[in-house]
Amino acid sequence: MTRALTRRRLLHTLASVRSAVLDLGALADLAAILRPDQLILELEQLRTYECDGLMRHRVIPAAVAIPESAAEVQAVVRVCNAHKIPFVARGAGTGLSGGAMPVAEGIVISLARFTKILAIDADRGEVTVEPGVANLDVTKAVASHGFYYAPDPSSQQVCTIGGNTAENSGGAHCLKYGFTVNHILAAEIVLPSGELVELSVWDEGPDLLGAFIGSEGTLGIATRLTLRILRAPEAVVTLLAGFAGMEEAGAAVSDVIGCGIIPAAIEMMDSITIEAAEAAVQAGYPTGCGAVLIVEFDGPRAQVEDDLERVLEICALRKARETRTAESAADRARIWRGRKAAFAAMGRVSPNYYVQDGVVPRTRLPEVLHAINELSARAGLRVGNVFHAGDGNLHPLVLYDARIAGQAERAEALANEILVACVDAGGSITGEHGVGADKACAMPLMFSEQDLEAMARLRSAFDPDGLANPGKIFPTPRLCGEVPGPYRVHAIEQAGLGERL
Ligand SMILES: Cc1cc2nc3c(=O)[nH]c(=O)nc-3n(C[C@H](O)[C@H](O)[C@H](O)COP(=O)(O)OP(=O)(O)OC[C@H]3O[C@@H](n4cnc5c(N)ncnc54)[C@H](O)[C@@H]3O)c2cc1C
Repeated sequence: MTRALTRRRLLHTLASVRSAVLDLGALADLAAILRPDQLILELEQLRTYECDGLMRHRVIPAAVAIPESAAEVQAVVRVCNAHKIPFVARGAGTGLSGGAMPVAEGIVISLARFTKILAIDADRGEVTVEPGVANLDVTKAVASHGFYYAPDPSSQQVCTIGGNTAENSGGAHCLKYGFTVNHILAAEIVLPSGELVELSVWDEGPDLLGAFIGSEGTLGIATRLTLRILRAPEAVVTLLAGFAGMEEAGAAVSDVIGCGIIPAAIEMMDSITIEAAEAAVQAGYPTGCGAVLIVEFDGPRAQVEDDLERVLEICALRKARETRTAESAADRARIWRGRKAAFAAMGRVSPNYYVQDGVVPRTRLPEVLHAINELSARAGLRVGNVFHAGDGNLHPLVLYDARIAGQAERAEALANEILVACVDAGGSITGEHGVGADKACAMPLMFSEQDLEAMARLRSAFDPDGLANPGKIFPTPRLCGEVPGPYRVHAIEQAGLGERL
């Protein structure tokens, strides 16, 4: 496409742009870098990018850029700098905290075309990928070499390695193998200034790679990532155990960890979630149980058999109603399909749901689950529970019907109260879904003003103008004043930081 044609198309497009949010100079600069199919300006197409998985919050961006190389990302970011335009990186948009939610006057930079597996180094146990590669595609790419990629968010078929890095994503197998931060060895990053840098775990000095991972797109855009891959284990056994209720299942989890066994995964689902998952994918979960545990063991065969035997004893002691191990790889896949489809399956039992993500110390699980039950009864809304029980990462699913006036607001308020209960029990406002826009106002629940100042200073060192994903992570009175809720009020009183970001 020639420059003249690009310009003609640009002028034509401008006629249909929803508003002149970006000035002509900025648009001309973008059009000089990107082909027409790499720049979205039409309102209807922009709507595709208006939210991530947190669908109740939507903002239409001024433009979407779809670069195809690090140099193009740099060029777009430099345009943003020159015209002081905020930008938001976007992977697959499966985030659940509004991290990829656009800024109205800003540009979304989509990494959707960064889908190459660049190199597999079996000797070093490493794979280098572009950030738009889907999580599961990494494992598929290295499987023939006898390896796999351990962090496995339930969204792994779709979510990208870039999004995983920005969120420091978890997954069922992170109990034994650690979160994304434990598996990223190096990253090529376009800083908010447009400069291209390489960070790695081998760098001397402060752990800047560690700071970047989990920074939710506020410190720059990853354009290449080198990941640690693990040798496929000799044996894998998946156990299903059905209990009368969450209390018994929770006690079994404490016993397992307490006796020194670290399974690859321990996941818990309550009766509402079991019902929904069964209806959606017929996973073969025990029927008539109040709670189900999925416990997976992997490693050397002898160790796996020994651990299984001890966990079966614990289950018997905690009066499990039923236990069975997966009979085949297909059966194992079916069991996991039920767990991984649990969020989406909620559509079978409720028109709408709100996913909360909080953490509690494992020892406080029974008491917090009890508190959730009480809060749910008081609010008159059902709550399904499905979570990474091994590391106390709860995902209460607040069920509601958006067609009934006020229910959506009540659901969000209940989800907020649950979060407060988690923090009161010594836990955290997020385990793996991130802070994003959703929980920025909850930050003061966990962090003091000094903590937030320190984080803000780090951010300023990378991004003095605050152009990279503004309005995320840090509480701002403007943002926190918009949405009422128990912790948000608390946050407005405490924050006062955000106006400077
Ligand atoms: C059904 C379902 C199940 C889920 N299960 C899990 C789970 O088990 N564990 C878990 O941790 N999460 C889970 N999630 C949440 C979500 O999938 C993860 O947060 C995931 O990492 C987001 O990846 P993404 O590519 O969709 O990123 P996006 O949603 O597009 O973006 C997420 C954040 O990353 C930033 N970002 C994206 N790409 C880059 C980049 N290249 N450089 C810098 N910043 C970037 C964005 O600005 C944004 O702040 C689930 C979501 C759904 C819908």
